[in-house]
Amino acid sequence: MAKGKKIIAAAAVVVIIAAIIAAAAASCASRTVSNGEAYARYFSVGQGDAAVFVWDSGAVLFDAGTNDSEDKLVSYLRAMGVDRLDAMVLSHPHDDHIGGADAVLHACDVGEVIMPSSSGDEEDEEALFTAIEDEGCPLYEAKAGDVYEFGDVKVEILSPLSYTGDANDDSAVAVLTFGKMRFMFTGDIESDGERALLDAYGADALDVDVLKVAHHGSSTSTGEEFLEAVSPDIAVISCGVDNDYGHPHAEVVGRLESHGVEVMRTDRDGAVTVYTDGESVYTKK
Ligand SMILES: [Zn+2]
Repeated sequence: MAKGKKIIAAAAVVVIIAAIIAAAAASCASRTVSNGEAYARYFSVGQGDAAVFVWDSGAVLFDAGTNDSEDKLVSYLRAMGVDRLDAMVLSHPHDDHIGGADAVLHACDVGEVIMPSSSGDEEDEEALFTAIEDEGCPLYEAKAGDVYEFGDVKVEILSPLSYTGDANDDSAVAVLTFGKMRFMFTGDIESDGERALLDAYGADALDVDVLKVAHHGSSTSTGEEFLEAVSPDIAVISCGVDNDYGHPHAEVVGRLESHGVEVMRTDRDGAVTVYTDGESVYTKK
């Protein structure tokens, strides 16, 4: 009888420990964020893109950097206490956006992957799709007009509107809304992609507060008309120090500055964090 009680007690301890671990896992993303607050962190992953939006009860990753930076990205997420992602949105299948996605899938519990069906870098795609299969993670095609809701956060997919065959222009452009604030993630769309968005939605609907500048600040993107439409308060350029492409191009930085936009750069500033309380956005707390 006493032995039986001991076993029941031990089982109860195991259940309690499991419940504590589950609760800790569920709240991991919230360790540094109070209710009603959130932040977007644009990681310094060299010549690539990777940003995570974290709020009190969840997190969404937008792009996963390069294969070379995947260990760095995973350790950044771990250091932030993020081991569960509601979703990983991949803009397009080029190495500098999906290279680290397989490592993230293995390291974190990823609710779903959302990405366009264009083709890009075969080796990285293969690693990604193998990881998706190994982890049993649902995969959804990014379709213009789709809206994903994760508690206090809404993610709208604006593109691809149609496939042009150019993986950059066929990037999934996503707008995340938290409270009244809107964060746009543009992948590597270029002028044709920007034109398509303007034609499909009109300038007013593209208005956001924070812009991840398309294509690492290349002058083939962030045209005057598109910039006037999105009219961000803060723009973040993700590019490598002294990269081979000369990104960001001076004319893009100039265009942003002439619009009074606060420009942050991962090559110069390291990881960039934009905070929000749902009413405003700011780079310093
Ligand atoms: Zn890129």
